[in-house]
Amino acid sequence: MRVRLLALGDVPPRLAEAVLAGLPRPYAGGEIGRLAVSLESCYDRQRAQVDAACLIEQVPNPESDWLIMGLTGVDLFMPALTYVFGISHLGGRRGLVSWYRLRPEKDSPDAPALFVRRIITEVVHELGHGDGLVHCVVPDCAMHRSLWPEAIDLKHPAYCPACLATLTSGSEQP
Ligand SMILES: [Zn+2]
Ligand SMILES: [Zn+2]
Repeated sequence: MRVRLLALGDVPPRLAEAVLAGLPRPYAGGEIGRLAVSLESCYDRQRAQVDAACLIEQVPNPESDWLIMGLTGVDLFMPALTYVFGISHLGGRRGLVSWYRLRPEKDSPDAPALFVRRIITEVVHELGHGDGLVHCVVPDCAMHRSLWPEAIDLKHPAYCPACLATLTSGSEQP
């Protein structure tokens, strides 16, 4: 399975490259591209946020053996939640991750590296959903659910053995 990272709008320099280089097994490289989207049509004026379920519909369907992940800096929400870090269609091989909430405090040790690590971990999380994985109880697995940015730091940007086994045995999945 290869991964196409699509920049929605401006992406910090070298971020997409760092994310692609940081993807764990079972992903086998990929490519980087851009995607023109209409944020206006998904923007909620009262919340001053972008509707994640609306925006993901602008991410194209991948060809077989590919996963598509959009990268954006806009603040995403779902109706029942204050914010989300990302969204995927379960098993649909496409998703979206926002770094809006992932920036560490300025005085965090090694904030730039921590920022990239959080983004990679959430990209791995959404790719997992896109490839059919549900949330995992293993605390340091990328598929563990994180509600706060600091909780992401407790996870590895990789799958636990059970999640990895599910992914690599999943060639018969729809
Ligand atoms: Zn999740
Ligand atoms: Zn797991």
